[in-house]
Amino acid sequence: MILNIDDVSVSYGEVSALRGVSLGVEEGSIVSVIGPNGAGKSTLANTVTGFRPYGGSVTYDGTEVSSVDASDLVANGLIHCTEDRDLFGYMSVEDNLELGAYRHGDGEADRLEYVYDVFPTLEERKDQNARTMSGGEQQMLAIGRALMGDPELLILDEPTLGLAPVILEDISDAIEEIREDGVTVLLCEQNVTFAMNHADHIYLLENGRIEKDGTPDDLRGDDYIRDAYLGG
Ligand code: ATP
Repeated sequence: MILNIDDVSVSYGEVSALRGVSLGVEEGSIVSVIGPNGAGKSTLANTVTGFRPYGGSVTYDGTEVSSVDASDLVANGLIHCTEDRDLFGYMSVEDNLELGAYRHGDGEADRLEYVYDVFPTLEERKDQNARTMSGGEQQMLAIGRALMGDPELLILDEPTLGLAPVILEDISDAIEEIREDGVTVLLCEQNVTFAMNHADHIYLLENGRIEKDGTPDDLRGDDYIRDAYLGG
């Protein structure tokens, strides 16, 4: 397991956001955490990348994430594409991408070529200010910047939020390309159909607890998932 989460609990003061969450991510796989607003998906992503204190254990590549600096996790290939995208709006697309190249000194040009291959739109728009890009293009840029960091485990938090179907296809294609390149992905998603199209294994998070898990086929056959998440 490249990522192992064991009995993890996280609170914000009185609010319990994760309650005894356990899950594992095999190297080379896509694992998705699905669940409604407020279920705790972003908290889980932030915990894995070292930004929340937690009870229990979270190991990345065998190292307890709380025992190292977040920057060391990044240097070891744990890259987080946050829900907020965190772009620099007044900088160009290419400058935003270059900021993601913290793991590469000399290989930056190759990395840029790779990202432009995954998202040709970004190359067409490379001189445009990030804030003037559409929501979908900004999402591509956020994922592209994460790819600049040469991830081994890429955490994508709600990459499809608010995106039009045509852009979803581009993001879908990109995720499959990323998988083919051997990157492991933890996909936090509210769009259950999208998650099912990509994930090898899915965990349902509700109110900070894992309520179910299985392959997409297992969950498609589950009455509760069908009624609550797939429109019956
Ligand atoms: P969404 O998709 O809407 O972002 P989520 O599944 O990612 O939802 P979280 O953002 O992790 O869920 O939130 C889990 C719970 O923790 C919610 O009840 C939320 O209100 C609470 N929470 C999240 N961040 C904070 C914070 N900084 N301070 C207090 N409570 C928080």
